Amino acid sequence: MAYCSFCNNEVLKGTGEIYVLKDGTTLNFCGSKCKRNSQKLKREGRLMKWTSKTLVLSTERKAPEKKESALAKDIEAKLKEKEASKAPAKK
Ligand SMILES: [Zn+2]
Repeated sequence: MAYCSFCNNEVLKGTGEIYVLKDGTTLNFCGSKCKRNSQKLKREGRLMKWTSKTLVLSTERKAPEKKESALAKDIEAKLKEKEASKAPAKK
């Protein structure tokens, strides 16, 4: 199974297009939308919001940042304090 080189979706057999560059590298496109976006409009798939490539990259980037940053730790500590203070009041 080939995957679209623009949006990273599966390219089913008998559909899509293969674009061959001068140096022999092949680009698979699932449809005309992805081909136009990369060839004519010269956009990058990982920067477009509607592609699944951005979803993968954004989740990979955001997850470690939240854990490591000092701000996130402060927020987590404050949230725990709030929960701790709220819990006995309810009971
Ligand atoms: Zn595509």
